[in-house]
Amino acid sequence: LTAAILSKKTIERCIALIRAWRSSKVLPVDAFRPTTNNCIRRATAFARSAQLYKANTRLDILLVRLAELNFALEINKARAGATQTNKRHINDVLNRLKWPQTKRKALEMRLANRRKWQKICGEFGPGLLCLIPFTSEALCCVSQDFCHRLIEEDINAFHVLVEEKRRFIDRLSKFGTLMLDMLLKDQNIEFQCESSQVSSLIRCTEDNLLSFLEPVQYPKTNFYQPTPPDYECDLCQATQYDCISNLLKNCYRIIQYGVKGRGIQARASSHRGLAFRKDEYIRELTGELVPLETHNNSIALDFHRPDIIDEPVICQVYCEKKGNWVRLVNHSCKPCARFVIKVVSKKARVML
Ligand SMILES: [Zn+2]
Repeated sequence: LTAAILSKKTIERCIALIRAWRSSKVLPVDAFRPTTNNCIRRATAFARSAQLYKANTRLDILLVRLAELNFALEINKARAGATQTNKRHINDVLNRLKWPQTKRKALEMRLANRRKWQKICGEFGPGLLCLIPFTSEALCCVSQDFCHRLIEEDINAFHVLVEEKRRFIDRLSKFGTLMLDMLLKDQNIEFQCESSQVSSLIRCTEDNLLSFLEPVQYPKTNFYQPTPPDYECDLCQATQYDCISNLLKNCYRIIQYGVKGRGIQARASSHRGLAFRKDEYIRELTGELVPLETHNNSIALDFHRPDIIDEPVICQVYCEKKGNWVRLVNHSCKPCARFVIKVVSKKARVML
């Protein structure tokens, strides 16, 4: 297990996981975000999720692991430290799922699996679940079953062995945590490997490999001379300072649109919900400010100052190297959104 996690193959798996998620049509979030605070109901939702994913792909396998982990966490919470057995709680879950008693064994199995996952993850946290091989690959041959069969001494030995490469595994686990944030918490994080050409990993140094899994940092806002203090904001029609921070967050998803490359999909916070209303601002586009006529392509946008007489064009916003997720929005022949340059929260900004 140590060798399997510390190998270059892990980086390959992580990159494949990001790609799979970008191309995934199905969002696990609803299944993983029960709307109730009741532990048993939550456990039921996770048990259902674990059953739902038939573990056909790596992503499915990861989701099953997470469902198992969450299912058991809820059962533990339901017990609330009581010494009573899980029997009653498992019964409750079975009843809610309308599953026959014959399925009890399967549920108890999930509970046992989860305890293994939790022990293996130890102080690295659940992000480690992204790093454990999904199928039995050559050389190390670590399968799911292999992990489930590990005994406590094995797991202790694993923790001692990985300690030798603590920095490596810490950075990998950090990636795992970010990956889980994407899967379960509606976060959209871009990783370096998505904007750089990753071909052969064999010749890469350890640092290079790890840098592929680093998140892309977004410039928060473009910086230049602010507008006059009494200039009316286009968003709040006042001169409030920070109204832009009230724009909806996480109402989007970065998606791989086949050969067209990455793009953005609107995403409502609930099933069949509404992501954006007509005339609403989605977000500011940020990028590098470069002199006029530096670039002549669609990744550069001419920027004028609506708050200055005659609205002069003063620079270009260039998004090839730096910029936030808004730069990934694709063109359309039938667009439903557009870029406008307006004064919002005291600054002229490119707004989507
Ligand atoms: Zn405002």
